[in-house]
Amino acid sequence: MTFDAIVIGGGAAGLFCAAEAGRRGKRVLVIERNAQVGRKIIVSGGGRCNFTNRSVNAENFVSENPHFAKSALARYTSQDFVELVRKHQIAYYEKKLGQLFCRESSKQIVEMLIAECRDAKVRIVTGCSVERVERGTSFSVKTDQGTIESERLVVATGGLSFAKIGATDFGYQIARQFGLKIIETRPSLVPLVLSGESFRDLAGVSVDAIVSTDGKDVRENILFTHRGMSGPAILQISNYWDKSRPVLIDLLGGVEASGLLSENRNTSKRLDNFLAGYIPAKVADRLFGKSAQRLSDMSDAGIAAAARRLNHWELRFKDTEGYDKAEVTLGGVSTDELSSKTFESKKVPGLFFIGEVLDVTGWLGGYNFQWAWSSGYAAAQDI
Ligand SMILES: Cc1cc2nc3c(=O)[nH]c(=O)nc-3n(C[C@H](O)[C@H](O)[C@H](O)COP(=O)(O)OP(=O)(O)OC[C@H]3O[C@@H](n4cnc5c(N)ncnc54)[C@H](O)[C@@H]3O)c2cc1C
Repeated sequence: MTFDAIVIGGGAAGLFCAAEAGRRGKRVLVIERNAQVGRKIIVSGGGRCNFTNRSVNAENFVSENPHFAKSALARYTSQDFVELVRKHQIAYYEKKLGQLFCRESSKQIVEMLIAECRDAKVRIVTGCSVERVERGTSFSVKTDQGTIESERLVVATGGLSFAKIGATDFGYQIARQFGLKIIETRPSLVPLVLSGESFRDLAGVSVDAIVSTDGKDVRENILFTHRGMSGPAILQISNYWDKSRPVLIDLLGGVEASGLLSENRNTSKRLDNFLAGYIPAKVADRLFGKSAQRLSDMSDAGIAAAARRLNHWELRFKDTEGYDKAEVTLGGVSTDELSSKTFESKKVPGLFFIGEVLDVTGWLGGYNFQWAWSSGYAAAQDI
């Protein structure tokens, strides 16, 4: 059998693109190295897949070219995907901040994509790894089970995180082979490892905070871990963090500490006990307990120092917890190399890249899956 297009990778982007192209009458083959398609979808969102966000725009993504995502996000929106989820009668709910999750199981999203592929007569081969690609008059795709030819090749091999469920660097290898630029990759949406003082004794404690670095700020929970910090605010800020920059934490989530402490100067409570009304007692004790005085006894300088630590706690992180704990990969195939409309390579006609393999990384909150759907849809219109 011959195919109009071969899609390498049966993850979110690959399956969605294949179903869309199949619906448009193309004969499409998806090749997936895992025994099962969509494994990352299954583990996502704690097993409930945060499949999109109610409000998605290009500002929710990190890329060398912040405009690249606009066209694809406008052509296939989060509302379009929600309609598909509804059509398949998958119950969902908004957890917070527009984040839409399956009510029952992320497996339903995989089943939905497989059903869409089936209806569109897409052929899916699992347990088959693509090892090499050559280009003559068409693409020759060498797998561990033989060679298949196709005029169009869609690379949907994802990023590097969670290698244990199938992630490979194969997409970057293909890009390099054809002379396409790659923006340096690194783990993101990932816990950070502290340098210097450890807060191991606070592991498991979370605080609602505002976390900022490099002019970006996120208001969400931080979670102390054995080696550093995690929680949604830290995962989100990791998209913007680099080793050279400190991370600032506002433990009072925007309440101005110097005003709060000054107004309560006449209280006889010790600082740590007073703060336990605003932040978890364990955190108040650990950060302010050692030399805590009654507020009424504190000097102006003491109040100012405590206020600084509450609103501008400056931390240095030495590293991330790496690809094993990262939800996504920052960087990837440069968007300069592709048409933002079709996702086809400008240098190599017939070669497409979609999904996380590209240098487009979403925030925490369903944006990365929306990128898989939107980029997959855009490419499918052209293949
Ligand atoms: C634990 C975890 C939780 C997450 N939760 C969310 C969430 O709730 N919401 C959200 O928006 N995002 C979430 N993400 C991110 C999201 O899963 C990814 O951004 C998304 O899956 C990317 O889709 P993709 O199709 O580009 O890549 P993937 O889904 O990773 O698919 C790539 C596929 O290519 C296959 N492959 C690779 N190399 C080859 C080869 N040589 N031959 C054949 N097949 C190959 C892989 O096995 C894989 O199945 C999460 C990620 C992780 C790790």
